[in-house]
Amino acid sequence: MEATLKNYDLSKLKVVTIASHSSLQILRGAKRLGLGTVAVAKPGSGWFYRRFTFIDKVIEVDLGSMEQLAGDLVKDNSILIPHGSYVEYVGWRRALNMPIPTFGNRYIIEWEADQRKKMKLLEYAGIPIPKSFNDPTQVDRPVIVKLSGAKGGRGYFIAKDANELVSKLSSINVGDDYIIQEYVIGVPAYYHYFGSKVYGRVELFGMDLRYESNVDGRSFNLAEPTFVVVGNIPVVLRESLLPIVQKYGEGFSRAVAELVPPGMIGPYSLESIIRDDLSIIVFEFSGRIVAGTNVYMGIGSPYSVLYFDKPMDMGERIAHEIVNSVKRGKLIDILT
Ligand code: AMP
Repeated sequence: MEATLKNYDLSKLKVVTIASHSSLQILRGAKRLGLGTVAVAKPGSGWFYRRFTFIDKVIEVDLGSMEQLAGDLVKDNSILIPHGSYVEYVGWRRALNMPIPTFGNRYIIEWEADQRKKMKLLEYAGIPIPKSFNDPTQVDRPVIVKLSGAKGGRGYFIAKDANELVSKLSSINVGDDYIIQEYVIGVPAYYHYFGSKVYGRVELFGMDLRYESNVDGRSFNLAEPTFVVVGNIPVVLRESLLPIVQKYGEGFSRAVAELVPPGMIGPYSLESIIRDDLSIIVFEFSGRIVAGTNVYMGIGSPYSVLYFDKPMDMGERIAHEIVNSVKRGKLIDILT
């Protein structure tokens, strides 16, 4: 990495990302802070991204061979910003080895890909998580079954007790890589954090709700609940909950610093259910930007003003970190 960066012209840095997920926000933010912008699109999907003047270049390529672009992108002083669709399209193994300087800690992707490792990391961080069950007959409460590799909640199912679980497990093809987790009763809330090397702090940058089909629809028990994410909704919490949310964010950052060096850099997220006793149970994390941050594109979340005294969206926040790391001669600290 050091050798690669030595050849970089830091006055001509380009931000590159896959055209999907949160790319509009990422590229718009980069352009506003004076960085070059490149979208890498799947064949046939580039036309949409060419509609936007803040994107300097749209490259259409089969993402199965994205590595072939790496040489040119590196020559062009590029920094890759990973997001959920990038990880989904190229897979975590290829993402770990992608020969392009990548913003944030790419090693966390491996932990994210494994449901068990994921829950261990949260537990290690001292964050309350849902109870897990190994033996379906021991289940004593409603549970959610999560299949490994399920995308955006697709393929999850719930069972209200052990009998229903055993019967569903025998009729649904779940393979052998799944977890049985307590289905926490409450309301969801998803927190957006930013781990800043420049300022040495964890910022609570925003939060959202997911809009999931069909569990958030009007099916009134006519159908089995499913959890396919179709959009996001902005939210703020009662202020008395914010210190807990901040504590979880900082705990997570400390745990990652210990177990997954070089620690949490840039955007990440914790996903929770808040019970009616106001306890917060975290069932998931994302070690990179989440699409829920898109709800604040161009306007910034109400929490972002607390750090910079002006609204900032996550795309702008990433670009701010890059620009200020360069000013301090520390770009290498925010890349892996
Ligand atoms: P995930 O793919 O883990 O983000 O989960 C998809 C959706 O399933 C979430 O947005 C929640 O609506 C729901 N969910 C996942 N885990 C739990 C849980 N332990 N308790 C209640 N709801 C959950």
